[in-house]
Amino acid sequence: MYFSTLMHPCLSIVIPLFNEEESLPELVEWIDRVCSAHSYTYEVIMVDDGSTDRSWSVVRQLSQQYPSVRGIRFQRNYGKSPALYMGFRAAEGDVVITMDADLQDSPDEIPELYDMVKGEEGYDLVSGWKKVRYDNALTKNLPSKLYNAVNRSMTGIKLHDMNCGLKAYKRKVIKSIEVYGEMHRFIPVLAKHAGFKKIGEKVVQHRPRKYGTSKFGWERFINGFLDLLTIQFTSRFGKKPMHFFGVLGAFTFLAGFVFVVMLIIDKLRFGADFGLTNKPAFYIALTSMIMGTLFFLSGFVAELVVRNAADRNHYIVEEETN
Ligand code: UDP
Ligand code: MG
Repeated sequence: MYFSTLMHPCLSIVIPLFNEEESLPELVEWIDRVCSAHSYTYEVIMVDDGSTDRSWSVVRQLSQQYPSVRGIRFQRNYGKSPALYMGFRAAEGDVVITMDADLQDSPDEIPELYDMVKGEEGYDLVSGWKKVRYDNALTKNLPSKLYNAVNRSMTGIKLHDMNCGLKAYKRKVIKSIEVYGEMHRFIPVLAKHAGFKKIGEKVVQHRPRKYGTSKFGWERFINGFLDLLTIQFTSRFGKKPMHFFGVLGAFTFLAGFVFVVMLIIDKLRFGADFGLTNKPAFYIALTSMIMGTLFFLSGFVAELVVRNAADRNHYIVEEETN
């Protein structure tokens, strides 16, 4: 159903896409069918992430055909996270649903996801769970299971399928977090760190890719793991880096210092017979003390960076009175 520009749509569907020309008409037609059947006022925001095929002309055509379809086109391919970021910025619905463009996610899931966020349960975020998955078992499904287990234990968020493209959010959640780099894999973690606690999961249908090819290869697991370390680090120490580098630096420096003391004692005991530079302890002491000092210096530099960050005093206020 189309909505007047004066009204908020109740639902925004954000779709990042990169070279998916064949799937788009079918996808939009399906979304429209589902949303019309439920009388949702909705908008579909299609973010073309610098496609080199005909995707953009298809989006333009669809936005003529369906007034609820809006298109944003990047100058070049930036990645899925930047595409989601732009989609989130543009989204105006009370509930925001993200979905891949390749028809692997089914629009039939929309009503239930919508109800989980909007209804009594009132989830801040609901993540899809592709329990039965139609991707390559060896290169994707197995590593993904392992990867999700690591995610669960490191982040404490009990989701089976953190990186599922099909997710639903309260509007406030997507307006409070900032997806960047390749952090689309960790949106639930970003949401948790922003203070949104009601994170749920819904088993969703998954379908084999009908057209085109996957845009992510095996490097996703390496990059994903590195991003996981980054996100854990920045969430704990992002605003107080010295608490990390200082402690590390102090320990390393002190360890080196203990070796120095030991060496001095030995030197006093054995005098001229004691070949200082022949002893492993000498080198351990040297490297430890240099590394300790470097950790400290990194801490100071990081503090200077944080001090200059534009968002150093950015907090999400939930409520105020009077
Ligand atoms: N995508 C994108 N930019 C990119 C890579 C992918 O917008 O640089 C989109 C892609 O078009 C699809 C979604 O992200 O809509 C998920 O990509 P894909 O289906 O290739 O991932 P997979 O299903 O293999 O995990
Ligand atoms: Mg896909």
